[in-house]
Amino acid sequence: MTRRQTSLAGAALLAILLTGGLVVWFSESVQDALMARVIAGRAAQRRSLHNPEALNVVFCGTGSPLPDPARSQPCIAVYAGTELLLVDAGGGAASRLTMLRAPLEQLSGVLLTHFHSDHIGGLGDVVLQSWAAGRHAALPVYGPEGVARVTEGFMAAFALDASYRTAHHGQALMPPGGARLTPHTVAVPDADAVVTVLERGQLRVQAFRVDHSPVDPAYGYRVDYRGRSVVFSGDTIQQDILARVGEGADLMVHEALSPHMMLAVADGLEAAGDAQRAQIVRDTLSYHATPVEAAETANAAHVRLLVYSHVVPPPPNAVAERMFLRGVDAVRDHDVVLGFDGLHVELPVGSTEVHQHDLR
Ligand SMILES: [Zn+2]
Ligand SMILES: [Zn+2]
Repeated sequence: MTRRQTSLAGAALLAILLTGGLVVWFSESVQDALMARVIAGRAAQRRSLHNPEALNVVFCGTGSPLPDPARSQPCIAVYAGTELLLVDAGGGAASRLTMLRAPLEQLSGVLLTHFHSDHIGGLGDVVLQSWAAGRHAALPVYGPEGVARVTEGFMAAFALDASYRTAHHGQALMPPGGARLTPHTVAVPDADAVVTVLERGQLRVQAFRVDHSPVDPAYGYRVDYRGRSVVFSGDTIQQDILARVGEGADLMVHEALSPHMMLAVADGLEAAGDAQRAQIVRDTLSYHATPVEAAETANAAHVRLLVYSHVVPPPPNAVAERMFLRGVDAVRDHDVVLGFDGLHVELPVGSTEVHQHDLR
């Protein structure tokens, strides 16, 4: 093609694009058709998450109390056959699941690790969104002693809203029972005990104590389904029990806080004259595990894949991610993932495969 022909072709393409853009800008019927297509695409649920032939884990909140538009507060969804369990329900959890088109109507339980606000703040929205999606029975909420206070508080705070929803949409669509929470106190007697939380069909959930002192008790959980398994650290310092309970698990989801990054954040706050928040940031170092410690625990448990969640501070770019993972390579140079909202780990039944998908 000559230079003149090339420039003519470029001009023609630009004209077509401009004409198309003008049509979209001025034609209401074209705008409406485009919107209908986008909504149809967004509304289509990822029903494959309820595939009974796999244990599916969806990260709906990999953040912490530190704000980050890309990371909701702690929430991980476990799809096991017809069951859907949420491990923690932090702020933004329900919105993130909806954005990821992850179905919520079969939500059959919430497992709370402890009652820090970032782990429970989204419970009201989780109830409402799953109720609106078609869950009609009361929602069981499992957790340490104190869970009943939390569920009663949320029900009291959302009672008026629940009455409006039923009045507006009708008893058949949103029956009052769907707005209710049923607390189940899980008692784990000591630091070595492992307690069965629920056992239904081929699904088993166990709880154990971790060390998030002064938050006591604080729990981790293990979920087993048809030979596949995932273990959750909850919020904790490095804990031997995780290696024992998590032995041979396919997936370990471990919290992690980078001390050198958080100390830099504290120094920055101090320099800006915010001594109050600088001290709070420094205090967080005492009750979380480092990325390297989490990798050591994953190795001791012989898990196939380690995913960091509850990532503190939230790294905003690739350089910060590299800083966050400093030292991990030397301990574990394979099968380590920095979790993100939208990560889907699929564990097919009857195999040892671990597939990772991005639902964003
Ligand atoms: Zn937390
Ligand atoms: Zn916590």
